[in-house]
Amino acid sequence: MTLITEEAKKGKKFDVKKYYNLPEKVIYCSKCVVSNQRPRITFDKDNVCSACRFAEYKNTKIDWDERERELKDLCDRHRRKDGYWDVVVPSSGGKDSNYVAHILKYKYNMNPLTATWSPMLYTDVGRRNHTNMIDSGLDNILGTPDGKTHRLLTKLSLEIMGDVFQPFIYGQKGFPMAVSINYKIPLVMYGENGEVEYGGDAKNSDKPTHNITDDMTKHYFSGIHPDDFSQYGIEKNKLNYYYPPKKDRADEIGLENHFFSYYKKWIPQENYYYSVENCNFEPEPDGRSEGTYSKYAGLDDKVDGYHFYFAYLKFGHGRATSDAAHEVRDGHITREEAIALVKKYDGEFPKKHFKEFLDYVDMTEDEFLKVCDRFRPDHLWELKGNNWSLKKTVY
Ligand SMILES: [Zn+2]
Repeated sequence: MTLITEEAKKGKKFDVKKYYNLPEKVIYCSKCVVSNQRPRITFDKDNVCSACRFAEYKNTKIDWDERERELKDLCDRHRRKDGYWDVVVPSSGGKDSNYVAHILKYKYNMNPLTATWSPMLYTDVGRRNHTNMIDSGLDNILGTPDGKTHRLLTKLSLEIMGDVFQPFIYGQKGFPMAVSINYKIPLVMYGENGEVEYGGDAKNSDKPTHNITDDMTKHYFSGIHPDDFSQYGIEKNKLNYYYPPKKDRADEIGLENHFFSYYKKWIPQENYYYSVENCNFEPEPDGRSEGTYSKYAGLDDKVDGYHFYFAYLKFGHGRATSDAAHEVRDGHITREEAIALVKKYDGEFPKKHFKEFLDYVDMTEDEFLKVCDRFRPDHLWELKGNNWSLKKTVY
């Protein structure tokens, strides 16, 4: 038996519904394909989700010329004349961060330092894209935590909260800020504000910045602090990379976290074209990612598929739902097309890297499947014969 936590060993059900505060009754958005089971999303009286309402707002109400003037002002305020870096861009070598870093450098005359938090298991295409990004004229710093700790945290996160991405998210959020503090580069430019683009807490939709506050653990880290892992024998001195940055150190250099999606209309498909054109970005060589129809997002980590698969188990919507919903909002596909794509691809099991993934988290296939079943909430799933199926779907 290689499972670690008592709950996992016993196969004890995780109370997904209570933990994420999910409504009992499943409702689908009448404009896109997400349901009210996405954590923190809200629905109005017409059954339209907050992400769709935000998309309408962004397409009709925001004066994007004015926003670009704000961006220029921000750049003018931070641009340096001595050749030192003046902005940190969190970057995976993916299409979105390529776009942000490249356009800041070549259109707005900034001197970005891109900061990459390493994937857990780099894919070949991910490594090539990381190199392609650097070769397009961008400086980079790569943060790689020790592999032993990282894989243990990954395994524990899977057992404790059904998300292999937890240790990745600590670094994805925190590492660029640590670079900013250590290199004394006060401006950090993130890509999209996920909370508003994908339907979370809409209260920050009109703010260009996010601050380092106590909200960090609650909002970005699902309420779990890195120290919470120390009860499983991970020593504190192994967690340095994972701690959120300290507010007083951020204040010392005047750290400002901005979202590029506040200043420029965020259209993933456009970012993709821009990255192909300017950064030699390569899409998924197999034509599409498992669990969805898209070929240009989240390509760099072999663990990605399991993050999305667990979202499917916990909330009943997987990777195709997220992709299709965003494309409906951007006007690239209709709701009917989105529904067909969800039906075809959502919840497809990520088998391409399965063996490697099991090695990485040191589980047998049976143990892994046992962990999966712990995270299917009763209000979403039913067992028919030997097969689990969703009680309600968008199709
Ligand atoms: Zn919607």
